[in-house]
Amino acid sequence: LDALGVKTWANDPASWRVALPRLASGTHKYMRGHALVLGGWPMSGAGRLAARAAARAGAGLVTVAVPPAGHGTYAAAFESQIVRPLADAHALDALLADRRFTGLLLGPGAGAGGTTRVMALRLLAAERPCVLDADALTAFADAPAELFAAIRAPTVLTPHAGEFARLFKTSGDKLTQARAAAAESGAVLVLKGGDTVVAAPDGRAVINANAPPTLATGGTGDVLAGLIVGLLAQGMPAFEAAAAGVWLHGAAAATFGPGLIASDLPDRIPVALRRLG
Ligand code: AMP
Ligand code: MG
Repeated sequence: LDALGVKTWANDPASWRVALPRLASGTHKYMRGHALVLGGWPMSGAGRLAARAAARAGAGLVTVAVPPAGHGTYAAAFESQIVRPLADAHALDALLADRRFTGLLLGPGAGAGGTTRVMALRLLAAERPCVLDADALTAFADAPAELFAAIRAPTVLTPHAGEFARLFKTSGDKLTQARAAAAESGAVLVLKGGDTVVAAPDGRAVINANAPPTLATGGTGDVLAGLIVGLLAQGMPAFEAAAAGVWLHGAAAATFGPGLIASDLPDRIPVALRRLG
C-alpha cells in the first residue's frame, strides 16, 4: 500500500532489491548456485541464449545439458559453462540425483512434443526451483491440470499471451488473469508482453514498465527465462527472482535502441545489475 492506502502494482526495484544475491569477499563459486539449462536440438539458439543469460545473472556454475546430436554445436558456443550430452529422461534423473542444481530451466527450443512433457515432469519431480518456458508450457496444452498437479517446489512459468491462452481459461484484464493463473497453478506467473505482469500464488503481483518495444524480436523471451533461472539458482525466492528478472531484462534492452537482437542482451545484464548498486 502506498501513502494514500492505495494498492500499487509497479515493478519497483525497491520491493525486491534486498533479495538480490549478495557477494561476500570469501564467496566460493559453489555458493553462487548451479543452474541446469536443458537445451533443445535442432533449434539450439534459444537454449544458448538462455544459458548465457543464466550465467550473466551471476550463477556460479551453469550446466547446459543437450541432446547428444547437438553436443558439438553447443560445446563450440560455450567457454565458461559446462556442456554435457543428455540422452533421455532416464539420464536426466541420473543427472538430477548426481548434482546439486539449485535452479532448473526447460523450454526454449525444446520442441512441444511428448519428450519435453516427460522431461518437464521429471524436473518438477526433483522439487528444485524451476523455470518452465515456451515449448515446456505448450507441451501441456491438452492437459494443463497434469502440469499444475506436478508443481510443488518454487516454480516460475513464463508464457507469452499465446502460450498463456493454451494453459489457462481465465478472463478479465491482464493483471486479473495472471493472478488467477498463479493461484490455479501454484506457480509464479510471468505473463509477458509490453506490460509484463508477475503474479504469485499468494496474490502478490507487479506490472513491469521499463521494457522497450525493441524487445519484440525473436529470442528475447529465451534470454528472460535464463535470467530468471540464474537468479533462482542463487537462492532468490521465485516471485522476487521473476520480478527482478523482468526488470533487468528491460534495463538491459534499454541500453540499445532500434536494431536490438536477442543475442545482444545477455552481455548487458551486468550493466543492468550495476544500476541496482
Ligand atoms: P517471447 O514472446 O517468448 O519471445 O518473449 C518476448 C519478450 O519480449 C518478453 O519478455 C516480452 O515481455 C518482451 N516484449 C515483447 N513485446 C514487447 C513490447 N512491445 N514492449 C516491451 N517488451 C516486449
Ligand atoms: Mg518465447
